[in-house]
Amino acid sequence: MKAFTHAGHPARVVFGDGALARLREEIERLGARRALLLSTPGRRAAVEAIAAQLGGLSAGVYGQAVMHVPIEVAEAARAHVAAIGADCLVAIGGGSTVGLAKAVALTTGLPIVAVPTTYSGSEATSIQGITEAGVKKTLRDPRMMPKTIVYDPSLAAGLPRAVAAPSGINAIAHCVEALYAQDGSPLVSLIAEEGIRAIVDNLPAALEGDGRARGEAMYGAWLAGITLNGTSMAIHHKLCHVVGGSFNLPHADTHAAILPYATAYNRDAAPEAMQRIRRALGRFDTGDAASGLLAFARSVGVTATLRDIGMPADGLDRAADLAVQNPYYNPRPIERDAVRALLQRAYDGDRP
Ligand code: NAD
Repeated sequence: MKAFTHAGHPARVVFGDGALARLREEIERLGARRALLLSTPGRRAAVEAIAAQLGGLSAGVYGQAVMHVPIEVAEAARAHVAAIGADCLVAIGGGSTVGLAKAVALTTGLPIVAVPTTYSGSEATSIQGITEAGVKKTLRDPRMMPKTIVYDPSLAAGLPRAVAAPSGINAIAHCVEALYAQDGSPLVSLIAEEGIRAIVDNLPAALEGDGRARGEAMYGAWLAGITLNGTSMAIHHKLCHVVGGSFNLPHADTHAAILPYATAYNRDAAPEAMQRIRRALGRFDTGDAASGLLAFARSVGVTATLRDIGMPADGLDRAADLAVQNPYYNPRPIERDAVRALLQRAYDGDRP
């Protein structure tokens, strides 16, 4: 067996429909008395209602989270937290909200309770993407790992399909890259395969309003976050960060547009990963992992190419240049021309 190093996942996880009712107890368990609730502007009203339930334990709602955590947004949130003297951050929302909480935790050391409402998996990682001067930088720091995750799948019930479907594919992408990561392990591979299976088997019904399936898909998102946290990212995540951060494209849609093509890039270099992906794809296995992933995405209505989500055609060269600037591990070596061709296929929506 290949040698490996494995570190366990440190967060406490409370999972189940109705788990939100345990939020107070989980905040108090951390010894906190003034928890600041974070949200995106669009979810502020829903989070205000949760704050009201917490009474004096809530230090209010800060509703300024946006995608890719621009440094200015992070600085403003840090200043607000210092001004009100909060002692805990409760992120209620998707990866953008959890990301803002992480940016604050990084400089304040405050504990995070994450209450995810999408399938991004960010709540299970100590990873952060901060965008500064148009460049998204990824960093890892244990201070950013949420102490507790409260998964209440019913909170994702109102998630618009256009958000939920690409978000599920974002989670699958974490698992795909973990399967061929340089620092993977047998345990991570098991988790990753099960994560893909759970999402592929359940996201379609979850999108139709099936509550049981929503819970199973969210379980898959948790597994996906664990695999992302436990491994280094390769070509797929690097490209998504470059393209998403530099051209301000929607995060999950970017993942969905690139995943089949990044998988195809590694097709011959990572045969065991491809086999596991195909097995996890079940009825969507087309005999090829990359085209199976595309078939699954299409089945849940995710058809947008990089062009469709706003990537400028004249940005593809710059994206390829940025992607090869800092060499990183990938099963197949990162070659500029091949990466440029990958981006073109994702832009046009060709066969992977
Ligand atoms: P998001 O958090 O931006 O949410 C997308 C939209 O859905 C937002 O407008 C939000 O208000 C809305 N929304 C969320 N929950 C809702 C609900 N229950 N009902 C109705 N609307 C709801 O999207 P995302 O894809 O979850 O997160 C993307 C961000 O997360 C990116 O910045 C990405 O870099 C980051 N991310 C980080 C990690 C990590 O480990 N650090 C992992 C994945 C994603």
